[in-house]
Parts: sequence; C-alpha cells; structure tokens
Amino acid sequence: MKIEQLINGDFQVGEGESETVINPRTGGEIVTFGQASRRQVDAAVSAARAAFGSWSLTPPADRSALLLELADRVDAEGQAFAELEALNCGKPINCVVEDEIPAVADTFRYFAGICRAASGAAAGEYIEGHTSMIRRDPVGVVAQVAPWNYPLMMMVWKIVPALAAGNTVVFKPSEQTPLTALKMADMLADVLSAGVLNIVTGVGESIGSHLINHPEVDMISLTGDVATGRKVLQAASAGIKRTHLELGGKAPVVVFDDADLAEVVEGLRAFGYYNAGQDCTAACRIYASSGIYERLVADLTTEVGKITYGLEDDSENEIPPLISAEQLARVAGFVNRASELEHAEITAGGSAAGGAGYYYSPTVIAGPRQEDEIVQREVFGPVVSVTPFDDVEQALAWANDSDYGLASSVWTRDIRRAMKMAAGLRFGCTWVNCHFMLVNEMPHGGLKMSGYGKDLSVHGLDDYSVVRHVMIKH
Ligand code: NAD
Repeated sequence: MKIEQLINGDFQVGEGESETVINPRTGGEIVTFGQASRRQVDAAVSAARAAFGSWSLTPPADRSALLLELADRVDAEGQAFAELEALNCGKPINCVVEDEIPAVADTFRYFAGICRAASGAAAGEYIEGHTSMIRRDPVGVVAQVAPWNYPLMMMVWKIVPALAAGNTVVFKPSEQTPLTALKMADMLADVLSAGVLNIVTGVGESIGSHLINHPEVDMISLTGDVATGRKVLQAASAGIKRTHLELGGKAPVVVFDDADLAEVVEGLRAFGYYNAGQDCTAACRIYASSGIYERLVADLTTEVGKITYGLEDDSENEIPPLISAEQLARVAGFVNRASELEHAEITAGGSAAGGAGYYYSPTVIAGPRQEDEIVQREVFGPVVSVTPFDDVEQALAWANDSDYGLASSVWTRDIRRAMKMAAGLRFGCTWVNCHFMLVNEMPHGGLKMSGYGKDLSVHGLDDYSVVRHVMIKH
C-alpha cells in the first residue's frame, strides 16, 4: 500500500512535515510519513478544477457504474480495510468487519442508484411564450475534511454523494487516522479519471486550513468539532461559499416508567459505549423517570461492568481505547470534575484503565443535574450520565436544553407519548425504543450547533448540488 498523496491521478510523496500515526491500543508508532505541502494542496485543487468540466458532464449512468465498481472493490478488500482501520483506531476487528465495511460498500451502491433517479419539479410555461425548467447541477470543487472516529465511513459519507452529484473533490482525512483513506486512494485512482478525487493529508491548523481557505474551492464540507465548524464558516464567508457541517452531539435518551427496562439497559450498554463513546450520536445523556431511575442505574451499572476491552484476543473486545493520549486526558478531566459533585455518584468505571493503550473504563455517573458540565458538554468517551426527571414536560425541556441537536431517543410503550416527544425534540433524529440505527436511505445531520446539511439519503445528494432555472423564449 502506498502512503502517499493522490493528486491528479498521481501518487506523490508528501512534501510537507512528517507526522506519526499512532496505534491507540499500544501507544506505539505505526508509520511516519510526509504530509502534503501547501503547494501540493494547490495542485490538488487545480486538478479537481480541471477535472470538473468532464466529470460534471459524465452521464449519471456512467458515474453510477464507476461507484458500483468501487463498491465491489470495497467488498473484495473488506478484510484488509477492516484490519487497517482496526490498527489505526484500535477498534475491535469484529465491529469494523460486521458494522462498518458492509455499510461503506452500501453507501457506494445507494448513491450509485439514486444519482440516476433524480426527479424534478414541474417544467412548463409560467410566462406566455416562455418555457421554464429546473436543473440540479453539481456545485463544483468540494473540499471535504473528515474526523478520526469512523475514518473510512466518514470519508465515504462525504466523497460518494459529492461524486455522485457530479462534483470533483479534494479530501483530507484526520491526521490521526489517514490510513484507510490512503488505501482507498489506490482503488479511486484505478477507477476514476485523474483529478476527480484527490486526497491530501496533514494537520488541520495548517494543511486543513489552507484547503478550506483556498479561493478555487466552491464548497466546504466538514465532519468535526464545533470549533472547526466555526473556522469553516469564517473561511466560507470570504467567498460566500456553500458549507456542509456535521459537528458534535450530546444525545438525550428519555426513559419513561413504562419502558422495557431490560431493553433500555441493553440499548444503553451497546450504544452509550460503542466505539468507546467516540460517536456524535452516542446515547450519553440519560433522563430516567423517577419511578424507574434507581433500577435503571443499578442494572446499567452491573451491565457496564461486563463490557470487555483491552483483551489480548481482539475478537473478545467490545470497545476500543480512546484515539489518543489527549483524548484520554480530556475524558478523564470530565469524569474527575464530575466526581467532585456532591449530588452525583460514579457507579461504574471512573478511571483510565492503565497500561500502554489509551483505554478508559466504561463509566456511569448517576444523579448529575441539568446544569452540570457532564450533562451539558460533549465528552466523546465511554461515559454515560443518568439524571432523574419528574414529568414529561421536564424531560422534554431538559432534553432540548443543549447547544447540540443531532440525535435523541425516547423509550416508552405508550405510542402517544412517544409521538408527542418526537414532535417536541429539537434533534436531527429521534429514535423510539432504539438508538443509533443509521441507514443509507435516511438522512443524518443536526440542528443548532450540531451543524446542518445532511449525510446519506436523497437529501445528502441534494446538498451537493445547486438548483438552477433555465428559461427559453419561444
Ligand atoms: P476536529 O474538528 O478536530 O477535526 C476534524 C477534521 O478537521 C480533521 O481532519 C482535522 O484535521 C480538521 N481540522 C481541524 N482544524 C482545522 C482547521 N483549522 N481547518 C481545516 N481543517 C481543520 O474533530 P475531531 O476531533 O477529529 O472529531 C471529533 C468531532 O467530530 C466531535 O465533536 C464529533 O462529535 C464530531 N463528529 C460529528 C459527526 C456528525 O455526523 N455530526 C460524526 C463524527 C464526528
């Protein structure tokens, strides 16, 4: 596998500073390699610009066929992709093989299908003697920047709808997790014409910043932190560019007395801690009705104590370590500050697991109040808080009392209450009696400081296109 930049169909050694990629399971080095230079970012943007004319006019059926070919290549090399992702992120191999790789291949197939099935608004004579029509055209050159929590999946969620809609792309993975993107580069270079998809690696503050501020970029798409989202908006303001922002989250989980407690606990054990909670939809902010609160805390504490991690036999592991020493320190900081609250109690976990890797023990914090930092801020670690509530209005108000608005869930057997809550919750997604389930057919994206723009679904495709009016005088 080449560990090089993909620019205009060529693989180039990065001319910029060297960065080391770390294995979070051990803290040891995986590889050190040269990142892109500013000159190479400029070359990548120029290549995307040059390729736009022909790619944007490539018929949907042909674009679709190329995406289907890429899906087959992902399937064929799925195990290798999974092993590389597991190495770079510390993810349990089974999670990547079973959950991520099939979803990645399906994203290619889904957009290969819908890019041929666009349906239009009416065309006709709205002024006598003139025919109007509406076109959906690609935006142009899209700069796309991805995070480290699901590197390959986030890459594919970005590049596939953008390409399917006829844009050309310069993609930058996280400097911490570039490896699967660089592996993907091989097949992209084989299948797509030069310049259609370019990959540059580098640190956000330097190479990422140079890319998003590039005057020749037409649209900027980021999945990342709120602070980085602000920088994208600043960069976009100079040229009034389109943006697509998928930022953080702090998902509320509202559990009513009549919920199936065993199902709730099973769901929280799985989706509060999946990927060690490094997930913008993680079920991390629980509100439990006072009638069920004590039992929920007790059962969840017992179950969370059984989550397996850091075992020599990786097939036994359920969750990974955190991505870096900094992330470990950040998560520990949140829990340490919460441990000083007199009204809250840490009933499971509460400390780093020790050893060489960046493991943090799965943690339950019972009893924090709405205004506490642990309830308000995104931890991005294996930490779940449980707060009791008295009535529906209070639960809804507290759930909505957040800077974020990405995902939420409601657990109850009462369909009327579930629908009332779903209507009142200000989140891009509300699940009822489940959490975390994403499908390519349905949109994923937030409100408020979680950003805007949709990944996946027909809305994801639309976000990478512009609506235009063409009028013909008879
Ligand atoms: P981050 O914002 O630090 O980094 C994301 C990407 O932005 C990286 O590639 C980084 O190099 C780049 N970047 C950083 N500073 C930049 C700058 N000044 N200019 C241009 N690029 C820059 O985020 P992260 O720590 O990698 O990821 C975690 C965050 O991502 C969390 O807040 C999480 O909630 C969010 N996230 C959101 C979603 C979603 O769908 N809403 C999905 C996954 C992750």
